Amino acid sequence: MNTVIFKVKNNSLEKEDLDNICEIIKSSGVVAFPTETVYGLGANALDVEAVKGIFKAKGRPSDNPLIVHISNLEMLDELVEEVGDAAKKLMDAFWPGPITFILKKKKEVSETVTAGLQTIAIRFPSDKIARDIIEYCGKPIAAPSANLSGKPSPTNGEHVIRDLTGRVEAIVVGEDAVIGLESTVVDLTGKYPMILRPGGISKEELEKVIGQVQIDKALNSEYSEDNKPKSPGMKYTHYAPKAEARLATGTREEQVIKIKELLNDLRSSGHSVGVLTVDENVEKYACDNIISLGSINNMDEIASNLFKALREFDDTSVEYILCESFENVGIGLAIMNRLKKACGYRIF
Ligand code: AMP
Ligand code: MG
Repeated sequence: MNTVIFKVKNNSLEKEDLDNICEIIKSSGVVAFPTETVYGLGANALDVEAVKGIFKAKGRPSDNPLIVHISNLEMLDELVEEVGDAAKKLMDAFWPGPITFILKKKKEVSETVTAGLQTIAIRFPSDKIARDIIEYCGKPIAAPSANLSGKPSPTNGEHVIRDLTGRVEAIVVGEDAVIGLESTVVDLTGKYPMILRPGGISKEELEKVIGQVQIDKALNSEYSEDNKPKSPGMKYTHYAPKAEARLATGTREEQVIKIKELLNDLRSSGHSVGVLTVDENVEKYACDNIISLGSINNMDEIASNLFKALREFDDTSVEYILCESFENVGIGLAIMNRLKKACGYRIF
């Protein structure tokens, strides 16, 4: 398949490009485009063939439902049964933005999008290009992250080009994703709101708006038959770099000591090792393959650099990546969720 590249200039797409993108969407094609969380791989959510195209392009298991993206609240009418009070408050507070709500789906919406579930995940992104594309096409757009299934989510156009050239009709290349982690997923179909995937909007921020919010307990540890996450996608090993990643725990000082020890051990048995750290600790390791995520005092920066860093290690010959960990508060919860998965729960 020939993949057309559309380039964003001055934070906008030319009318001719928008026309071509919509033509592809209307003829059941898939188009990757930037959003504030990560790049998405979009197709008409109301067109079953188009939605099947997303699963095929990504190699995504068909039991992992997609998030449907909208560009105005009227679009909700054809997708969900009802928007309750909690949903209204949260939409008011956080949309457009990096948060997805799970609501009861209208029966007309195909179960291909929702992977057989009677609920549907919906997000109203804030990114201008994403909104322009959805609004111009006038259709809700199903869009998972635009990576090959299992790989770290793409936070820039180059990542998408690498993963999906030849597999999708078009890729829209814009700015790097500002947030760099996928949206927070909140289930609003149960008795209490529940976070199924931590993301750009934190538990603390949600609680300021609607009081107590639960977190799916299954997120704390690895998937097993007795520990099934409520969000089907959370059971898959994600974000895996090629090298074996391991996550250090303890205070920052303890982590540095542990990483240095393991670094020495692995090296003396002839292995090539990388370290994933923060600006404040870069100087502490004698290691050629070292990547800093940013300053420990700027967790947003750390979040936005995480996936890029994991992908950068793939371009080196390291066999192991030793990672520092972060506090489970605010966006730190989402960072740790992704890191634990990237490390396959190998924690030391
Ligand atoms: P991605 O599209 O790659 O950002 O992943 C979307 C995430 O939302 C996955 O973890 C899905 O399992 C989850 N998701 C989508 N729809 C639903 C739903 N109806 N109920 C629970 N989780 C969902
Ligand atoms: Mg994904």
